[in-house]
Amino acid sequence: MIRRPKGRMKSTFVLSLLALFFQPAFAQARFNGAKAYEYAKSFAAIGPRWPTGPGHVKAEAFIRSHFKQDQLEEDTFTANTTIGPVALHNFIVRFPGKKDGIIVLSTHYETNYPLRDINFVGANDGAATTGLLMAIADQLRGKKLDGYSVWLVFFDGEEAFEHWSASDSTYGSRHLAAKWGGDGTLGKIKAFILADMIGDKDLDIQRETNSTGWLVDLVRQAAKKLGDERYFFQTDEPVEDDHLPFVKRGVPSIDIIDLDYGPNNSYHHTAQDTMDKVSARSLSIVGDVFLETIRLINQR
Ligand SMILES: [Zn+2]
Repeated sequence: MIRRPKGRMKSTFVLSLLALFFQPAFAQARFNGAKAYEYAKSFAAIGPRWPTGPGHVKAEAFIRSHFKQDQLEEDTFTANTTIGPVALHNFIVRFPGKKDGIIVLSTHYETNYPLRDINFVGANDGAATTGLLMAIADQLRGKKLDGYSVWLVFFDGEEAFEHWSASDSTYGSRHLAAKWGGDGTLGKIKAFILADMIGDKDLDIQRETNSTGWLVDLVRQAAKKLGDERYFFQTDEPVEDDHLPFVKRGVPSIDIIDLDYGPNNSYHHTAQDTMDKVSARSLSIVGDVFLETIRLINQR
């Protein structure tokens, strides 16, 4: 028999007690931001993903592959863009719930067409949030959800083909909002939550002023509960993004966006938007807040 030195035994005992005491805290494991980061890294490694380009085809394949065991719908349509008709592909993944109603989590996944001549991989702008939703899917998969159904939407054509305007931007979300307006889906959506550029290491999410008030309050409440309120809504700013077509149709919507990326926003839409500017921790924070927000919406 091996005898442990007394002192060590004591500390082991104390450690065991401590572990027991803190177990509830450990049990509430944080969202797996490291996994979201890995997905984002692989997705960004495809390279530029501008519509009509070879990287876009690979990005579509990546999404199909990740959700091959899920209810994946491909929403392919032809957009009348400023450079002519372009085939675009939204992806919708459905995780059914027991309650009647839908919570949408969304992002765009493509990169900017005008930036096709530089090596713009959109690590934060498209890849980070694609990875975030893929990791969230990993937690939703395999069981019928207790609350509302959760649908993940990966929008195509968020970026302008030439110069950002109401008509040259958000092609995928404008198409889907119109389609869901026509078939009655919009009326079932309890909340539409958009994530954009939230992988930034220096996370400061603005309060987007077109977003629905009660949903902003719920996200703030979720962040506060998790002790992460300092990353949320310290400044106010209106942003045009994929949520607007849903806001305009009366769907409760919020854009969770950090449009302050690098010194004087100098990484935004430049070749500087690479994975070293993105952090797993930021993805963890937003992932946790999203999951907590879903819980709060279900309790509402
Ligand atoms: Zn962008």
